[in-house]
Amino acid sequence: MDTISFRIKRQDTPEGGPYWEEFVIPYQKNSNVISCLMDIQKNPVNAKGREVAPVVWESNCLEEVCGTCTMRVNGQVRQACSALIDRLEQPIVVEPMSKFPVVRDLIVDRTRMFDALKQVQAWVPVDGYYDLGPGERISPNHQQIAYKLSECMTCGCCVEACPQYAKDGDFLGPAAVSQVRLFNMHPTGKNIAEERIDVLTQKGGITSCGNAQNCVEVCPKGIPLTESIAEMGRQVSQRFWKTLFRAA
Ligand code: SF4
Ligand code: SF4
Repeated sequence: MDTISFRIKRQDTPEGGPYWEEFVIPYQKNSNVISCLMDIQKNPVNAKGREVAPVVWESNCLEEVCGTCTMRVNGQVRQACSALIDRLEQPIVVEPMSKFPVVRDLIVDRTRMFDALKQVQAWVPVDGYYDLGPGERISPNHQQIAYKLSECMTCGCCVEACPQYAKDGDFLGPAAVSQVRLFNMHPTGKNIAEERIDVLTQKGGITSCGNAQNCVEVCPKGIPLTESIAEMGRQVSQRFWKTLFRAA
């Protein structure tokens, strides 16, 4: 293999329509999609030999930790930094994620995911940063579950794969639901557990999940999203019965 061929879905502005452009670059051993995009950026000449605007994308850590380089590669949502060229069929088809507004080329605006985290208050509320003394002891089993859940990098793979997460819909998405589980487990975070659960009972909350389980299949961090959804469904029902009996 002397060359690598790419077919890239491009868009010049948020309002502009998408179009496809092909690029052929010299093969380099051990390259990945990001290193190839860098090569295209250095010499932005398309397969027809025409100089074009360089393709733009987002990336940061380059080790599948930050999630910013998430895009569709050969139809599969994943991080471009860990998409190794030698394992991909060519031409390599690269597209932005389809569930978020495109800013330009492969850059999308994931604000909706961060807004979902704000809505569910995905944090531990504290009233100051003075010395509060040692925290509550946490069992190794609790630590193991919480650590896994805390690995979410808000990359968007799960919502991209979720059939219930429509581009203009209101579903909070599996990542936010899983973060509710994480913060409701926390000894201090659970102080506002009911507020978080109330958000999950609203439109776009837990009942929007159709249990297709696509999310758990694509999560690069192996977060047990369907387990989280089931656990939060349990907490939502518990809260419902509690409220009903309190009212009676
Ligand atoms: S749950 Fe997994 S797939 Fe979803 S945003 Fe977090 S890391 Fe990405
Ligand atoms: S299990 Fe729920 S959240 Fe996950 S992909 Fe299916 S519908 Fe979406």
